Amino acid sequence: MNLTDKRPELNDLIQAIDACLPQTQCMQCGYNGCRPYAEAAARGEADVNQCPPGGEVTINALAKLLRVEAKPLNPKYGLHKPRTVAWIEEALCIGCTLCIKACPVDAILGATKQMHTVLTQECTGCELCVAPCPVDCIHMRPVTINNAGPWPDYSQAEAERARRRGVVGIGAAVRRTAEGRQRDDERCRPCVRKRLPAAQLQKTLSVAG
Ligand code: SF4
Ligand code: SF4
Ligand code: SF4
Repeated sequence: MNLTDKRPELNDLIQAIDACLPQTQCMQCGYNGCRPYAEAAARGEADVNQCPPGGEVTINALAKLLRVEAKPLNPKYGLHKPRTVAWIEEALCIGCTLCIKACPVDAILGATKQMHTVLTQECTGCELCVAPCPVDCIHMRPVTINNAGPWPDYSQAEAERARRRGVVGIGAAVRRTAEGRQRDDERCRPCVRKRLPAAQLQKTLSVAG
């Protein structure tokens, strides 16, 4: 269904809901990012308490907007926790690029078989890069929060920037295509499952690429 063209009033509601979300694009809500969750909430298919990063601030805002009762965060979708940022142990990185494709906001720099690094100021702390890394060299670290608000961990400006990057990011584009998701799954699952040593992984990924 094309929500944008055919139901302008619904589109306004989606945008209003999306503005209540911190835009980490973490998918904890069960949707493929903040905008898809906003669309589902507007259609009445998602509840107001499914966004752990948004926590109480988002729940209360959505409840007011949708004229329903606020309710506690549903733990099925995760718990609200202090914001962290990703950090790559560069000496271990084998340059497989899987983390780049997983990052919804293009916060990782690197190229095939070269060391990767995180742009700390762009990282939303979504943790989506951690699991795909075949050598476990991505770690989440605590971060000092500056200028937070309306959320305890995110500012409106940060959310706006993450929204823009989430629309155009490589990871976002990959996730939008079933083909991209399948390709990444095929490439990383066997290695992750077997926990191959780094040298062997490099060989495996060279063949897969
Ligand atoms: S911040 Fe994460 S959980 Fe909240 S709406 Fe966005 S993608 Fe979903
Ligand atoms: S670097 Fe990792 S934790 Fe940070 S936004 Fe990208 S995928 Fe999320
Ligand atoms: S997934 Fe891990 S090994 Fe692969 S490029 Fe990213 S940090 Fe390096």
